[in-house]
Amino acid sequence: MSIAQKAREIQSEIVQWRRDLHQIPEVGLEVPQTSAYVARELEKLGVEHKTGVGGYGVVGIIRGDYPGKTIGLRADMDGLAIQEETGLPFASTIAGKMHACGHDSHTAMQLGAAKLLLENKDKLTGNAKLIFQPAEEGPGGAKPMIDDGVMENPKVDAVLGLHIGLVFKEVGTGQVGVGYGQLMACLDRFKIIIKGKGCHGAMPEMGVDPIVIAGQVISTLQTIVSREIAPTTPAVVTIGIIRGGQAYNIIPDIVEMEGTARALDQQVREKNAARIEDIVKQVTRGMRGDYEFEYIFGYPALSNDAEFTKEFVKVAQEIVGEENVLEIAKPTMGGEDFAFFLKMVPGTFFFLGGGNEEKGIVYPHHSAKFDVDEDVFWKGTALLTQGAIDWLTRNC
Ligand code: MN
Repeated sequence: MSIAQKAREIQSEIVQWRRDLHQIPEVGLEVPQTSAYVARELEKLGVEHKTGVGGYGVVGIIRGDYPGKTIGLRADMDGLAIQEETGLPFASTIAGKMHACGHDSHTAMQLGAAKLLLENKDKLTGNAKLIFQPAEEGPGGAKPMIDDGVMENPKVDAVLGLHIGLVFKEVGTGQVGVGYGQLMACLDRFKIIIKGKGCHGAMPEMGVDPIVIAGQVISTLQTIVSREIAPTTPAVVTIGIIRGGQAYNIIPDIVEMEGTARALDQQVREKNAARIEDIVKQVTRGMRGDYEFEYIFGYPALSNDAEFTKEFVKVAQEIVGEENVLEIAKPTMGGEDFAFFLKMVPGTFFFLGGGNEEKGIVYPHHSAKFDVDEDVFWKGTALLTQGAIDWLTRNC
């Protein structure tokens, strides 16, 4: 029986895992219940595993019958601070928390892969490491797991991961979207404090108005992308928070702002960081103010390995049919901390279409009504399992 057929056979188990996890969403790095659930299920399956890796990370290992390399499969486990409004019978039981990005499905599909890989370890030339990580939605769970040695013992030589849902609209229900290179942007954050000198609004000459400075800073920051980066090169500078002032007729002392900067190229990223500070400095000082600035380099841009992806596409074509494997034409400026793994070893991050208009599954990620079409789960499990088996066989 093929891996795809075996995956179909355990479809109801994958659904059950997903529904169990869907009811107990946890957010960020603090995912004790989810982590314990995953460990318990791995235990039941008889999969050797470790808990407490980089916090609440869980790592399973399937040692093949034949020696070889090690491939890492990664599933994120975290939910979001959103009050669920799906009305599903297995909706979140935790107020204000919800699996609104489908990470419950990722974990469930990877548990399915754990089961199939163990059952098929006679087909494994090397090992499969199952990485279950917290905090993909922030502050980031991949990095702490890497720092805690998840890529060692045995050393991980390649990685494979996926995202379900509607990240790329062109990837239809049960279809697979792939990209051969740059696919997702870096995810950086910056904080600005503009310091002026407060005074009465009727006598602006007595102070230094940080609100007027902030206005200039915001306008000038927009010229980084529009005037300093080639129009064909993707980049974003967005101010998402601005705070300042208490009274309608008083000029405040300071204005605080926060924003995000995104890019696909590392050079553009560094330019963003440097130019944002430079503009804040020059504009503020030019207007008699002062400033504080902090730039936080978050997730790097996500770039797939072309060779690995080419091979994976063959696996995907076998499982979902040639016509259902699509090349993603344009990257997204969204971020993803799987990028940290891809910075270390070759691999691919692919997308499994999880929306379904006929079933009314149309709400975007992070919506209180977000859901996925569970019927596609077996495909995710099959893609991870067969992807691992084939890569290990080819690279022994
Ligand atoms: Mn996500």
